[in-house]
Amino acid sequence: MNPLENDIQYLKGVGEHRARLLNKLNIFYIEDLLEHFPRDYINRKSAVKISNLQFNQHCSFVGEIVSIEKRYTSPKKYQLNVVISDGEDYLFCTWFQFGNWFIKQFEVGKQIWVSGVVSEFRGSPQIVHPQIEILDNTDSKLDFWKTRSILPVYPLTERLSMNVMRDLIYKAFELYNKNIEETLPEYILKKFKFEHRRISLQKVHFSQHPQEIKKLKERFAFEELFYTQIMLARSKYKHHREKLGYQFELKKTYTTKLKNSLTFELTSAQKKVIREIVNDMTSSRQMNRLLQGDVGSGKTIVTVFAMLLALENGFQSAFMTPTEILAEQHFRNISNLLSNQPSIKIALLKGGNYKGKKQTLEQIANGEINIIIGTHALIQKDVKFHNVGFVAIDEQHRFGVEQRAVLSQKNKHPDLMYLSATPIPRSLALTVYGDLDVSIIDELPPHRKSIKTFWHSSQQNNIVFDKVREQLLKGRQVYIVCPLIEESEKIDLLDAETLFKYISTKIYPKWKSSLLHGRMKTTEKDRIMEDFKNGKINILVSTTVIEVGIDVPNATVMIIEHAERFGLSQLHQLRGRVGRGSDESFCYLIVHPPISEDGRERLNIMLETNDGFKIAEKDLELRGPGDFFGTEQSGMPIYKHANIVRDQELLKQARILAFNIIEEDDELKLDKNQALSKEYFSKYYKREKLFEF
Ligand code: ADP
Ligand code: MG
Repeated sequence: MNPLENDIQYLKGVGEHRARLLNKLNIFYIEDLLEHFPRDYINRKSAVKISNLQFNQHCSFVGEIVSIEKRYTSPKKYQLNVVISDGEDYLFCTWFQFGNWFIKQFEVGKQIWVSGVVSEFRGSPQIVHPQIEILDNTDSKLDFWKTRSILPVYPLTERLSMNVMRDLIYKAFELYNKNIEETLPEYILKKFKFEHRRISLQKVHFSQHPQEIKKLKERFAFEELFYTQIMLARSKYKHHREKLGYQFELKKTYTTKLKNSLTFELTSAQKKVIREIVNDMTSSRQMNRLLQGDVGSGKTIVTVFAMLLALENGFQSAFMTPTEILAEQHFRNISNLLSNQPSIKIALLKGGNYKGKKQTLEQIANGEINIIIGTHALIQKDVKFHNVGFVAIDEQHRFGVEQRAVLSQKNKHPDLMYLSATPIPRSLALTVYGDLDVSIIDELPPHRKSIKTFWHSSQQNNIVFDKVREQLLKGRQVYIVCPLIEESEKIDLLDAETLFKYISTKIYPKWKSSLLHGRMKTTEKDRIMEDFKNGKINILVSTTVIEVGIDVPNATVMIIEHAERFGLSQLHQLRGRVGRGSDESFCYLIVHPPISEDGRERLNIMLETNDGFKIAEKDLELRGPGDFFGTEQSGMPIYKHANIVRDQELLKQARILAFNIIEEDDELKLDKNQALSKEYFSKYYKREKLFEF
């Protein structure tokens, strides 16, 4: 067994208790500890003077603690102020969240290192929640650290001190450094001027030259990105090689009839994407394509076109959606689109038992039905298709990889298309969907009115309510979205229930309002949504559960409460629920002060553009990849060292290199790829299996 995979618990000085603390930092094995990188470095020799600080910049200082004060600010809330001095000037360090153990480490007179972004507090410089280290603690058992002028600063967890962490890493390195093997082939190290893995690790922890660190760390980010891309390249390559699909022929019967029946001209983006799909479907390869396009860009017609191409070759199509209400909407829209071709039989398949289901299942099995639209019901055991040639999956990020796999295995190798109305930034798409071909509809149909967007402080609510009244008087409908369902003791947010009461009794008592939220039963939610669609409800107060892609053309106003709490992409998605009819639409972002500079910048982006891709890029930049997809299953790999926003260039290079390598040596059998093969099959191959279907 590889000694680097030894349990951390058995490293001298760790034991059961500390192991648990280390586990909290995702450190389970020796190799995790060696890859627990400093987040900063202390320079004991050259301290910056407080007078040289720059506001709103990240700065580090060394000084002496001159006062410690715990203040009571409001019910159950405390604030900790620690003032430090460099002999000339003072700096406030402030915490709003801290435990008693945390306070104990401070002592007037001790030397301390602090680091963070400096702001201004009553004319004095202040750092809120700085990183700190008490410098004259002498409990490090190792002389090694005492002689160093540059010290690493590690991410810690409660009850684990910096000195202990440093000592553990030093010991682990001393004991195990001979076991650190190179994981990249020589030719890659040369090409990117990376140092050997062992040297890189050593220097990241113990370097006395902080300026070399950035380049050293880059190799670890590269490694992660590169191996993920090797995996994606292998999946894609295998797919292309092994999975033969149906080779359809463009017979121009049903497809041409559809084209001729449209009352509008397809956009050039739609035409381009249809060409890409036709190329895939008429080749012998199985199509495996992601179709991205903002809400309203016209993905449905493109999808129906692909369905009809399968149909002219005698095959069925399936269209899977995340919810019943979307399935119903697609069923209605597609039935309308095909109303001049009555020989095409379309069925809606729902979950559970209902009258007529048995017959539908029979007709699906004997091939009488050509197009089947439904939810997860499509992948239940009792569904037998006659011969599916094309499968479309709507809002694909809502389905797990396994569910997609099941649907595609229902038949031999139907052509697959995943639809996404969430514009995904390029770097994310390359990481999460790097094994798929991607088509993008980057153009909205002409004459689409952009949605007029405003932001107001919650104190100006009445202005908004008055303007919205004009729309209600014209017979239009309104969405109001709120982040929480019910009042919470913990967070001071307006909740949907309170807002609903206020709206329905105080603001718009004459109109019919309803409340919609995630804790309701699905049937209840669907009924309310249906009533809203049919105009029986004027105002829908809800949490974020209103579906992407829901189509209520008469709804022209979207009000979003606590807009500062939402990510940009989410705001854009919510805004996309309006602007679906011919009337002018409005979106009001209501902000509850205080708003940060960042918050202002974010809201202004919403005012500046309606372009989902631009907004998505900005969102990724501001929030990072973890939050981009929200909590839904995303398939996003968890990187320890790489950051796909910061490392976009590295990602691009890693991808090109990985795809070239797999093109030449897909099984990684060549001599020069031995190191690579070993690392890949021991660490990454597991995930490749997930991508196989
Ligand atoms: P998506 O699924 O991408 O959100 P849809 O396919 O539902 O968008 O299309 C939204 C609306 O735009 C539909 O009413 C559709 O008929 C219409 N539409 C689609 N393509 C065009 C086009 N090229 N020109 C005008 N209207 C279009
Ligand atoms: Mg759609």
